[in-house]
Amino acid sequence: MRYKLKDYEQFAGKGFTEKIHELAKPLEHKHIAHLNSTYYGGGVAEILNSLVMLLNDVGIITGWRLIKGDKDFFDVTKQIHNALQGEHEHFSNSEKSIYINTNHANSVFTHLDRHELVFVHDPQPLPMIHFYKKKCPWIWRCHIDISNPTHGIWSYLKKFVVKYDAAVFSVEKFKQKLPLPQHIIPPAIDPLSSKNVDMKESAINKQLKKFDIPTDKPIIAQISRFDRWKDPWGVIDAYHLIKKKFDCRLVLLGAVASDDPEGDKIYEGIIEKAASNDNIHVISFQSDMLVNALQRASSLIIQNSIREGFGLTVAEALWKGTPVLTRRVGGIPLQVKNGYNGYFATDLHDFSNKAVKLLKNKKLAKKMGANGREHVRKNFLITRLLEDHLKLYKNVLKL
Ligand code: UDP
Repeated sequence: MRYKLKDYEQFAGKGFTEKIHELAKPLEHKHIAHLNSTYYGGGVAEILNSLVMLLNDVGIITGWRLIKGDKDFFDVTKQIHNALQGEHEHFSNSEKSIYINTNHANSVFTHLDRHELVFVHDPQPLPMIHFYKKKCPWIWRCHIDISNPTHGIWSYLKKFVVKYDAAVFSVEKFKQKLPLPQHIIPPAIDPLSSKNVDMKESAINKQLKKFDIPTDKPIIAQISRFDRWKDPWGVIDAYHLIKKKFDCRLVLLGAVASDDPEGDKIYEGIIEKAASNDNIHVISFQSDMLVNALQRASSLIIQNSIREGFGLTVAEALWKGTPVLTRRVGGIPLQVKNGYNGYFATDLHDFSNKAVKLLKNKKLAKKMGANGREHVRKNFLITRLLEDHLKLYKNVLKL
């Protein structure tokens, strides 16, 4: 089902539709393009799925393009992603050529010169700007945790970033030294998408049954791409400590995104690490309904990220009234308030103690879950993101 702006009034309050139309008036019939590297399997695709629809609904002609690349290209861009998050990677000239040549080729057939605003997400299509005679403002939106990038890669990418008219980050501390305006806009979730919409208990159970997840014991889960920065190995280690004190099941759910070449290998390693333990369920399958059901059925959600741009999975879980046990990294502290709607943990023992506390005290978990939903309602719904985007477009277009 495709929802309209009006359907979101129930979350954003009466008068929301009028407010948005008023804000969007000067942008009506403008032609905007969003460009990223995958249609599914990560936070960026998740946001664009809803945001692009709503922008069209308010009368802005908004397109969504993908950069096309082969395995070598996505190997290089994943290395760039890792280096921006602090990993020491060396980039050879041939790797840089793959990155640049793929962007060059894409610039020939993406035809981004007929728009009034171009919005580029993350490093994969970042150099595309270099191959256009810029006729309109271009915005670079970085979704990655770049609080501590490897120096070499950032100074290389900066050559392209400075060509943009504005940059957008999720958190204040990700701002860089740049000669262009930098805006802070945290991501958001769509409460009406099939991943977040309310679900009946029978529908939740149906999903769990479909994926062979028994409901005989409480469930704890991490739902994230199989990615080193999400540290799924650490989740298994923490689970073993938790299990000694409280009988429960662990589910690790992670679909593999088309722009993430490391996912399959990490998934295989996790399968091996979890092998022969009937209480650990490792699933690699893309299903919004399963994500939704699991976030609701779990007693708590773990997000063991070492670096995290924002972590939509955190907002998704909190929205469903499930407390989140996580680390104080990247954009997560915007969402989790320690002791209010979840906990921060620092090491395995801390993780296991706090998990057991939440598992044993259902009343506390329920209260924290309710706080979490309210925190997301006020701050991290797509309605706020839509408003922020409209304000940004007007600002950049000087309308
Ligand atoms: N996701 C999913 N299926 C999975 C694992 C993750 O649909 O098996 C979704 C998740 O629900 C969230 C997005 O992928 O909407 C991940 O966004 P996040 O910001 O947490 O992390 P990213 O993958 O962008 O680093």
